[in-house]
Amino acid sequence: MKRFIAMKDNKEIFLCSICNINSGTCKEDCKFCSQSIRYKAEINRYKQKPIDEIIKEAKIARDNGALGFCLVTADKGLNEKTLKFVCQSAELLTSEVPKLRLIACNGTATLEQLLTLKKSGIKAYNHNLETSEDFYPQICTTHPWSERYETCLNVNESGLVLISGGIFGLGETQIDRQSMLKSLNELNPTSVPINFYHHNDALELKPNSLTTDEALSLIKQTRQAIPHAQRIMIAGGRELMFGNRQSEIFKYGANSIVIGNYLTTSGRIMSKDLDMLKNLNLEVAKTVKIDNSGNLVLNSLNS
Ligand code: SF4
Repeated sequence: MKRFIAMKDNKEIFLCSICNINSGTCKEDCKFCSQSIRYKAEINRYKQKPIDEIIKEAKIARDNGALGFCLVTADKGLNEKTLKFVCQSAELLTSEVPKLRLIACNGTATLEQLLTLKKSGIKAYNHNLETSEDFYPQICTTHPWSERYETCLNVNESGLVLISGGIFGLGETQIDRQSMLKSLNELNPTSVPINFYHHNDALELKPNSLTTDEALSLIKQTRQAIPHAQRIMIAGGRELMFGNRQSEIFKYGANSIVIGNYLTTSGRIMSKDLDMLKNLNLEVAKTVKIDNSGNLVLNSLNS
């Protein structure tokens, strides 16, 4: 298992950008997801984003300081065709935009599929637990939570870096939140993406009722519950959840953000995030640090 070493006084923020390379074609029924074909949300739906477009987005992300670039597909998991597409995209990106660390987020994955992704240049795999095991059946009925957990175990076994987190504001209780964080801690993820539910009228789920203060407290709770994670990343819903208090997320333990657009919603323009970090005297992480023994070095604002 990977180990993380704390580095004191490090004020670096890791930026990541996500690229929806296949959008809105999923048959699953996750109640928070506008990409499910069941809810008929008005979003862009396409099978494969043209490779030129993917490379263009990767270059924009890199030029704005992103270190991570995540190739996301909307589906329950990988099939042969999707795996091939993700691998081809990863190989091309490795040669065209070599400085980016490539991440894949393609749902349920077997060990064999993960090893194939790794060979193509993918460095990390993102698979979120989403919520607690007990609450999950109220959020999704087409696949079990245990399948998500198992994929995360497969990621650890494959030697890819595990990125796993969840989504708050789905109507879960505080007990559910603590339970999810406990499960995440067991999996020892390197990065923990925290999303805040962004309501879409096509979805039957009630709008997110969390207050900004409650959401900030959840970032702190996540940081405390998963002390060895290298990064706590604030992902989808940041702009909506925190509004003009976005800069406070770093005081509560976040040290990574997604920049640019999300999967089906718009983020704010990247330069605004770079300005925010500059005003806070926070630096954009330029590299992922690994010490002589191969351990990842923790860039934590709380260390
Ligand atoms: S499996 Fe993923 S893409 Fe499909 S509905 Fe659920 S969250 Fe959305």
